[in-house]
Amino acid sequence: MNTFQRLESEVRSYCRAWPTVFTKGSGATLVDEQGAEYLDFFAGAGALNYGHNPLPLREKLLDYITSEGVTHSLDTATTAKEEFLLTFEEVVLAPRGLDYKVMFPGPTGTNAVESALKLARKATGRESVISFTNAFHGMTLGSLAVTGNSMKRAGAGVPLTNAVTMPYAGSFDDDVDTLEQLDYFLTDAGSGVDQPAAVVVETIQAEGGVNVASAMWMRRLGELCHRHGILLIVDDIQVGCGRTGPFFSFEEMDLDHQPDIVCLSKSLSGYGLPFAVVLLDPRFDVFKPGEHNGTFRGFNLAFVTAAAALRRWWTNDSLTKDVARRADTVTARLTALVEDHPAMFEEARGRGLIQGVECSEPELASAISAAAFEVGLIVETAGPRDEVVKLLPPLTIRDDQLEQGLDLLNEAVERVFDTEGDRLLSTSETASEAVAAG
Ligand SMILES: *Cc1c(COP(=O)(O)O)cnc(C)c1O
Repeated sequence: MNTFQRLESEVRSYCRAWPTVFTKGSGATLVDEQGAEYLDFFAGAGALNYGHNPLPLREKLLDYITSEGVTHSLDTATTAKEEFLLTFEEVVLAPRGLDYKVMFPGPTGTNAVESALKLARKATGRESVISFTNAFHGMTLGSLAVTGNSMKRAGAGVPLTNAVTMPYAGSFDDDVDTLEQLDYFLTDAGSGVDQPAAVVVETIQAEGGVNVASAMWMRRLGELCHRHGILLIVDDIQVGCGRTGPFFSFEEMDLDHQPDIVCLSKSLSGYGLPFAVVLLDPRFDVFKPGEHNGTFRGFNLAFVTAAAALRRWWTNDSLTKDVARRADTVTARLTALVEDHPAMFEEARGRGLIQGVECSEPELASAISAAAFEVGLIVETAGPRDEVVKLLPPLTIRDDQLEQGLDLLNEAVERVFDTEGDRLLSTSETASEAVAAG
């Protein structure tokens, strides 16, 4: 029994998928105690968009620490906080014509979502929030109430209330318009759905299985919220900070109005340090001083690395262009993988550098992830039945490492096909024979 099995709670999860002890991380690679190297296509579930220990951020961080910069400050003003706010305004908000106040909740994603939900409820005086099937917004009770996954919801132990789930984009065939349904529920006085405070949405459901909403769907959702006087909360925690190319995942969607509230966390610090913000339309800046609080809202080390990341990667569009180019590589390789193994895969999907393949059976996805680990690639699974192999390489990964990681994925798939292929092919042949026989 190893240390983690002996001392750490049964709730541990990722260390089960990748049974080794890591010692070092640099860019897109991780090294373990045996000195084995892995390419990291998990990137801290999207918290390491610039890879492990990015040098330009590390230097700034070490300088700040050795100069005795303030580390902890609640929300008292520090030079690090001022520098972050000014940089965020200059590099992110102003060039995009966005008008937001910045709220610092606790340092995790779910803290940001909780704050957004409370704020929307207070601003509208309404209780319920609409979320979507297969959404993931975090594990505390408010966020869990707007999360779809039944296993995660079951952990709550109490009723999850004041939330209504509606079908996400593409839940049905193309001829079923999920937004027309939502509109109907909000319009018909007999629908049984109360007027909500807000709709909370991910433009791509990451944990939910790499489900992509189209720009058109998001535009129409924004228009619908506006028309009904409902706040639109975009949870950009995993797919913001450049994951899809531009800084915000909704940026190139040409929405009529800016989202009322936006949540950011994961890669915001750029260094894997805990950090979250809630961006809110000034009209909804309704909390009284201290009405929402928390000890770790002013993590100065994260302010320092976040500001450095914005300066390093977001003052021009070269990273956005790199992501587009690398995304094309991933799409081409995943599409080929699916074509080569029709019995194993349903489809390849995603946008930018969040892409995945849906397997025909959930067991295949975990087998591929396990085989990938054996050949030196870290990839996770996602989706309601963990049926999707999800790729989240660092945005800054070198092109040769990206190709190498995709080669390793291929190798992992071939390994799984070697053991499962005959069974899968005979099942699909039996199925197609049955179809042919009518
Ligand atoms: C990870 C994630 C969260 C929760 O963030 P934590 O830091 O784990 O609390 C919320 N929403 C989305 C979309 C996420 O990917």
